[in-house]
Amino acid sequence: MKKIAILTSGGDSQGMNSAIRAVTRSALANNFEVYGVRRGFKGLIDNDFVKLGTKEVSDILYRGGTFLQSARSESFKTPEGQAKGVENLKAKGIDYVVVIGGDGSYRGAQALHRHGIKTYGLPGTIDNDIPLTDYTIGFDTTLNLVTDLVGNLRDTMSSHERVSVIETMGRNCGDIALQAGIASGVDAILIPEVEPDLEKVAASVKAGFDRGKSHSIIIVAEGAGEAPEVAKKIKELSGLDTRATVLGHIQRGGSPSSFDRVFSSRLGHRVIELIQEGITGVGLGIESNQLTHHTFDEIFNAKNTIDLKLYQIFQDLV
Ligand code: ATP
Repeated sequence: MKKIAILTSGGDSQGMNSAIRAVTRSALANNFEVYGVRRGFKGLIDNDFVKLGTKEVSDILYRGGTFLQSARSESFKTPEGQAKGVENLKAKGIDYVVVIGGDGSYRGAQALHRHGIKTYGLPGTIDNDIPLTDYTIGFDTTLNLVTDLVGNLRDTMSSHERVSVIETMGRNCGDIALQAGIASGVDAILIPEVEPDLEKVAASVKAGFDRGKSHSIIIVAEGAGEAPEVAKKIKELSGLDTRATVLGHIQRGGSPSSFDRVFSSRLGHRVIELIQEGITGVGLGIESNQLTHHTFDEIFNAKNTIDLKLYQIFQDLV
């Protein structure tokens, strides 16, 4: 009987549970024995496995977070840590491992692959920063969440005639800020991919108030600056009352959107098809609504890019 293990690693994202469920149920339907590894690569080293049946993955499709829990493991970056993890997998007779996580987790997946474990990566991160996939699991949910939160802030900023500077997650990738900004009709978007010009932003915000606007919203990706600093600078430059809000971890929680549930279900199901096709050592994704897979090296060698056309659209519509 084939045996497969699933782990979630790095920062969690909404839809990881639906991905675990999809891999588990598709594997069970094809007579695999299925194991969950608790706390990511740490659990591999600690031999922390739980057997998964249909019942173990009931009632998780719509829950945020990951019921297997996630962790960061420095030990797994060392040859000794990897050897221990591989030894534990081999002792259980597990040939296949599915790693759900971000680009760091994909490095761990590649290490397993190099040790002869047949490995699959699913892009689980809200940041949408993995190359060769249009979406990552959790991005759509976060986008909807941030759009709602910006709406809430607009209400109170409008009452008090203030400028709101809102910081979203996204260390190297401004996609959450960019797309939530367009969806919310904000006045300025600061992202790491585009050099910021705070003087220009302050002047346009001031011009808006001079025209009679009652509020203004600036959205900043964490990789492009810190909201309190940006708010201070805008206040200095415009003389307007500004408030900073760092959205923080609230962006990573909540029930996954329909898109993320369907997307992660498709990805999880596809893993078992790839096993049957004899394809291993790949990260899965979606490009032009088709599920795709690329070797880990291809993914690491590709550059993640955001759609700068969207930034141009934003500038033309603001
Ligand atoms: P997020 O996008 O939320 O940061 P991530 O998967 O990129 O998620 P990381 O902290 O970079 O998060 O990586 C998660 C874990 O993957 C690490 O704690 C470590 O266990 C493993 N990992 C990262 N890099 C490597 C590497 N070079 N070799 C082996 N394992 C690694």
